[in-house]
Amino acid sequence: MQHDDQYPPQSPYDTGLKGLCPRCGQGHLFKGFINIAPKCDVCDMEFDFADAGDGPAVFVILIAGFIVVGAALYVEIQYEPPMWVHMAIFLPMVLVVVLGMLRPLKGLLVALQYRNKAEQGRLVK
Ligand SMILES: [Zn+2]
Repeated sequence: MQHDDQYPPQSPYDTGLKGLCPRCGQGHLFKGFINIAPKCDVCDMEFDFADAGDGPAVFVILIAGFIVVGAALYVEIQYEPPMWVHMAIFLPMVLVVVLGMLRPLKGLLVALQYRNKAEQGRLVK
């Protein structure tokens, strides 16, 4: 396995938001839609350190909630449409916003975790 210092530093925003390897910036971070691949297909770095946990879901819930609920409130106050109009517009909008943000945010959090060497705390001997 090659060492980290053989690769130029990558921006976690460039690599993470595109779902690319945080070390080489070329391999794929994901296998499937949001599952992390076992290792990079270009530089062979193992992604077993990657544990974004509930982080992406929290950000997606907060951001998507702000966007969709804000839009629904605006439409309701401005136009007072019947309920089926809300359902027809905002249920699909929830799906699009949530599914569109989940993968880039998970990639970003994993890339930031790699960049900042974030890991479990432990006692120094
Ligand atoms: Zn790589």
